[in-house]
Amino acid sequence: AAAGGAVMAEAAAASRQPPDVDTDDCLREYRHLFSPDLLAGQVAFITGGGSGIGFRTAEIFMRHGCRTVIASRNLQRVSEASKKLVAATGQQCLPLSVDVRQPQTIAAAVDEALKEFKRIDILINGAAGNFLCPASALSFNAFKTVIDIDTIGTFNTSKVLFEKYFRDHGGVIVNITATLSYRGQALQVHAGSAKAAIDAMTRHLAVEWGPNNIRVNSLAPGPITGTEGYRRLGGKFAEEASLFDTIPLQRAGNKTEIAHSTLYLASPLSSYVTGTTLVVDGGSWLTSANNFRALLGIASSSAK
Ligand code: NAP
Repeated sequence: AAAGGAVMAEAAAASRQPPDVDTDDCLREYRHLFSPDLLAGQVAFITGGGSGIGFRTAEIFMRHGCRTVIASRNLQRVSEASKKLVAATGQQCLPLSVDVRQPQTIAAAVDEALKEFKRIDILINGAAGNFLCPASALSFNAFKTVIDIDTIGTFNTSKVLFEKYFRDHGGVIVNITATLSYRGQALQVHAGSAKAAIDAMTRHLAVEWGPNNIRVNSLAPGPITGTEGYRRLGGKFAEEASLFDTIPLQRAGNKTEIAHSTLYLASPLSSYVTGTTLVVDGGSWLTSANNFRALLGIASSSAK
């Protein structure tokens, strides 16, 4: 029994959830699991870095010695986020406005980042848009907008970074995707299709850009608390209906858990990993009910 108990304790430590806060604020406490200088001297360019998963990723990277550029459409949002990040970590953070659908805005931002920091080592493609909607009610334009931001935005940003820096210096790209297409998630044909195309792009670019010492991987999160995604896609409903009991790890994930897995993919810890998708979902997609009717209820109440 003692031996069994010891095994249990070790297993528990390996899946223990780090603390997080649900708002777009920095962590009140942080205990390093990786070496604090894991990304010392490096610079990360993070689209969508002003909120949710992107914000926490910027924070965790900065706590590991990285300087960051956080870029999205709303300059006020990234500027406020940058102040919080600098205050909490003591690292530099440059907030910039980009619309990933417009390559010239990305080019201008990358020029400014290179002027400021002289290098970019890491690109995190986190910018995206999503909402619940049945295909039958989805406008042609709504489908196209999600493809434009998620898929084409990821290509635009990757290509600009390649041309302006990675081609000659190497680098690492992490694309934040999703598991939606694995089981044809209801009410998600737009985002599922967009993210599946990004996972394909990950493999294509890993092949073409490997010889330039560029690693390209996807990270596919499950339901993550304290995010816009969680609020819009029925996270609270799932929580109240005890739906997370069906997830193998019996819970939703948090932003720090996604940031830690992104840190692994962006760091030399994964130096021989390229062209893959790392699923970070507590096993969720394997067992979650694809409940069309429940999701329709959430979609119509969130549209009100
Ligand atoms: P979020 O806070 O809404 O993050 C999306 C970010 O993208 C925002 O900061 C937004 O900032 C930016 N953005 C949107 N359109 C843009 C554009 N055209 N150009 C530049 N930036 C743009 O949501 P999140 O839930 O943390 O999601 C972050 C990533 O994780 C997304 O890729 C999402 O698909 C993925 N994901 C999340 C979950 C989850 O449970 N939350 C699950 C699976 C996958 P602006 O409005 O300022 O542009």
